[in-house]
Amino acid sequence: MPGPRHRQPWHLRSPRRRTDVPVVRLNLLVCRTIAQLNAELTACRACPRLVAWRERVAHEKRAAFSDENYWGKPVPGFGPADAKLLVVGLAPAAHGGNRTGRMFTGDRSADVLIACMHAAGLANQATSLSADDGLRLLGTRMTAPVHCAPPDNKPTPAERDTCRRWLDAELDLLAPTVRAIVVLGGWGWQALLPALAESGWEIPKPRPKFGHGAHVELAPARPGRSALHLFGTYHPSQQNTFTGRLSPAMLERVLTDAAHAAGLR
Ligand code: SF4
Repeated sequence: MPGPRHRQPWHLRSPRRRTDVPVVRLNLLVCRTIAQLNAELTACRACPRLVAWRERVAHEKRAAFSDENYWGKPVPGFGPADAKLLVVGLAPAAHGGNRTGRMFTGDRSADVLIACMHAAGLANQATSLSADDGLRLLGTRMTAPVHCAPPDNKPTPAERDTCRRWLDAELDLLAPTVRAIVVLGGWGWQALLPALAESGWEIPKPRPKFGHGAHVELAPARPGRSALHLFGTYHPSQQNTFTGRLSPAMLERVLTDAAHAAGLR
């Protein structure tokens, strides 16, 4: 008789070795819609360090938000299930997505990103402040390789690999419509390439290098996939925007190019 551990869904257990991946992927095949994926994802407790951190931050709060109820759970992707363009970040911010429950909402990175997405015609408004603020993304979805806020914004390689299952599943579900991806930062670029290979796109060898303005077209490697334009931009973190490494004009240019490649403009 299998013990209780074997009867638990994988995402409610502690992480196991990569040899378990085929079992995990079989489990994820039950996620037939983005809505179902989002629902399953928000219950995930697979990374003990991140579960402890996200819940601690939600309990202790930042003074400026002391009267708010923090989300304190994995933050699912945001945007339509038939998006043509996907924006891939790093992970939710402790007092941004981990507070509001929505990707790129309620922090300085969101201020820059959503204003640029609005300018590029990818969002109906220029601000992203709370989950009920009326923001709609237009033909575009946002997600991250890691769905829980990490300490110092730095997930470990093991946490990245554990969360890959959700990214793989999201790419599978978006594959019929997605035609371009914008990756925010080198960390996300490195995390995304193997997921794209797993999900049915050819990754050139040597692997395409990340850089601001990087652009590569990936050929489909599986029936049901179409050519995919991959764009890179520096992450709109304060570290980059306050130092002038990334200006709004630079980010808007990449988003506009990606919107054209995705057939949105
Ligand atoms: S980071 Fe991903 S895999 Fe880890 S607990 Fe959060 S949702 Fe689950």
